[in-house]
Amino acid sequence: MADKGTCKVNDCNHQVIAKGYCRKHFRLWKAGEMPKARYKTCTEEKCRKPRFHGGLCQEHYNAARGKKQEAAPAAPAATPAGA
Ligand SMILES: [Zn+2]
Ligand SMILES: [Zn+2]
Repeated sequence: MADKGTCKVNDCNHQVIAKGYCRKHFRLWKAGEMPKARYKTCTEEKCRKPRFHGGLCQEHYNAARGKKQEAAPAAPAATPAGA
């Protein structure tokens, strides 16, 4: 058989159509839903969230910091505190 092999997604054994992905995962890849797509994703295993800082998503970044802060500072610092 001269097929291209199977999808590089670990749990997927479907036949590759492009980029090492099967049809389903290639569609996800184009939609930016797969790792190594348009944006870098969290380095935590099984986490596909966009990176926030230090290679981690916001959730894992906060966890890695030892729960020092309950919420990340999301407010823009450039905004003057009016009144
Ligand atoms: Zn697949
Ligand atoms: Zn994460």
